[in-house]
Amino acid sequence: MDFQISEKMKVILGMINEFVDKELIPLEAHFTKMEFRDGLELFEEKRKMVKQMELWAPNHPKEYGGMGLDLVEHGLVSEALGRTPLGHYIFGCQAPDAGNIEILHKYGTPEQKEKYLGPLVAGDIRSCFSMTEVNMPGSNPVMLETTAVKDGDDYVINGHKWYTSSADGSKFAIVMAVTNPDAPRYLNASMIIVPTDNPGFNLVRNIPVMGHEGSDYASHGEIIYQSCRVPRKNLLGEEGHGFVIAQDRLGPGRIHHCMRWLGICNRAFELMCKRANERVITPDGKTLATQQTIRTWVADSAAEIQAARLMTLYAAWRIETVGASEARNDISMIKFVVANTMQTIIDRALQVHGGLGMSDDTILSYFYRHERGARIYDGADEVHRLMLGKRILNQFQKS
Ligand SMILES: Cc1cc2nc3c(=O)[nH]c(=O)nc-3n(C[C@H](O)[C@H](O)[C@H](O)COP(=O)(O)OP(=O)(O)OC[C@H]3O[C@@H](n4cnc5c(N)ncnc54)[C@H](O)[C@@H]3O)c2cc1C
Repeated sequence: MDFQISEKMKVILGMINEFVDKELIPLEAHFTKMEFRDGLELFEEKRKMVKQMELWAPNHPKEYGGMGLDLVEHGLVSEALGRTPLGHYIFGCQAPDAGNIEILHKYGTPEQKEKYLGPLVAGDIRSCFSMTEVNMPGSNPVMLETTAVKDGDDYVINGHKWYTSSADGSKFAIVMAVTNPDAPRYLNASMIIVPTDNPGFNLVRNIPVMGHEGSDYASHGEIIYQSCRVPRKNLLGEEGHGFVIAQDRLGPGRIHHCMRWLGICNRAFELMCKRANERVITPDGKTLATQQTIRTWVADSAAEIQAARLMTLYAAWRIETVGASEARNDISMIKFVVANTMQTIIDRALQVHGGLGMSDDTILSYFYRHERGARIYDGADEVHRLMLGKRILNQFQKS
């Protein structure tokens, strides 16, 4: 197996690493203490710099102004950007827009592409993805209460969603709603584009998450869709195919997430090693790095990161060569393995920093709070394990 990366990717990753170190990491001390909304002007300046360097929207189609990198290439980019919480946003490849761009590109009508896809890839607008409901188990997403009822040329949407990430300040939401209640569960829901200035779109609040309400891109919205009337031409893809499209959205999205989490692992690991070498713990000048426990943590962390990274790149390669459906076991595995690896590494790095780790003087406490959700969103650990175990056991039943 060839682990070489192309010369083109070496150049791209070199430029990204330099930009992250010089332009973004220095912003973190400020960023972690302010409202995202208050940083928009500053972030826009950095985005312009990225566009000038022709590194904007690395994973998005060239025809819309992106770089058109493939999944493995973008995985490597996502890892480099993941070292800072600002990376993906500043380079125009942040979730949930990245997933929405993919499905608009694949399923959007020419009109939808012109109105939503172009401005989204350009970074002129943002979007959100509204599927999880307050009263229904997100772990079993076919249980949806939100309905979209046909009325003349319109759909009328009613429902109560939450954890619609980045809804605050978005121009539109892609909403999952039941359109065909009599069809089998997997074919009863559709994705519908809802502009957020629609009077039936009510952002009730930004949900306080781990002590912080957040704002703008860095927020998670609770939304009531109340007699929300949108034209039927806002349907994305075929009616009743919402879950089919959702599957498409999740495959490559998991690679992006996992590689971003590996970027976080790399950053936490760097901080852990640096601190261990610097922190003097005895009068004769011994550092933390001389201690067996710390050395073991460093060794374990290095091995765990490498294992998780190889698994993720392999899954990306499988998606590209055999397709997301065939690669579903690989995709399930990385989701829970990498999310847990990340949490272990952040936790160890925080522990090595002692009281400093608990403070907001390093990025570790931010990662600790904000990345806990990784074991819940896009399918909780337990659900992935359940499905993976079931599929593996089924294979043995057949043979
Ligand atoms: C930070 C964050 C961002 C999010 N962003 C979005 C977004 O942008 N758009 C969106 O639509 N949703 C989003 N979500 C919602 C997310 O997808 C759901 O929280 C997730 O699917 C779990 O659903 P739930 O919260 O309803 O938990 P439940 O379905 O109530 O499950 C609760 C827990 O029960 C356990 N469990 C459930 N089923 C099983 C089972 N079969 N076997 C064993 N254990 C089980 C798991 O431990 C699970 O964590 C986000 C969530 C978070 C935390």
